[in-house]
Amino acid sequence: MGLNVIMMGPPGAGKGTQAGRFAIDRGLPKISTGDILREAIKEQNPTALAAKARMDRGELVDDAMIIKIVADRLARPDARDGFVLDGFPRTVAQARALDDLMSRLDFGPLIVVDVTVPEQELVQRLATRRICSVCGVNAEPTGDVCRKCGGRLVQRSDDDGNVVLERLRIYQQTTRPVLDYYRERPTFRVVNGAQTPERVAHELNAVINDAAAARR
Ligand code: AMP
Repeated sequence: MGLNVIMMGPPGAGKGTQAGRFAIDRGLPKISTGDILREAIKEQNPTALAAKARMDRGELVDDAMIIKIVADRLARPDARDGFVLDGFPRTVAQARALDDLMSRLDFGPLIVVDVTVPEQELVQRLATRRICSVCGVNAEPTGDVCRKCGGRLVQRSDDDGNVVLERLRIYQQTTRPVLDYYRERPTFRVVNGAQTPERVAHELNAVINDAAAARR
């Protein structure tokens, strides 16, 4: 049975980094809707460009558009043996659409991990977060160039002060209910994200193994 993992958690919880590591470790594709959108904007895709203003304001983009992006991506053969979703679902409508998709594609159960971090720490982390302008990888807040490709490090436009607060507000209002949607499932797990990345990765591995065993 494939490992179908959803990494949940507020902006700044480190879920993108953890999703990336876990995906590499297990040989699974990491599917980040934020990365897909940013990539499509770079390529001047008209639909993505139309969503850019909403992204810059920290607002969510249209459910139908994001559901289509995920449906197309999950239909590709490399997702057949499992995947790690990062940044999706963010609304209950998206979570329902994903359940439909899972049964239509005949995928196994979802494993849902919530990475929790206190709000004060999130604000601090997002204010200092830097990403590479070339390869998009999250980088240490110190330094000017990416360790992976040498690209220039920049602040994400939506990590700016007021936009961060708006993203956290939207998370509480619209994405928190998604956790309630999943909470009663036997494959729902919580990880403490306010630890070193190594410690979080270790816990994450353990809870995902445990949840995978609970599917049988
Ligand atoms: P992220 O990199 O996951 O923080 O996503 C960056 C931005 O892309 C978000 O603030 C939204 O504007 C948009 N976005 C990414 N994923 C979704 C989603 N599942 N639903 C709606 N908007 C999304």
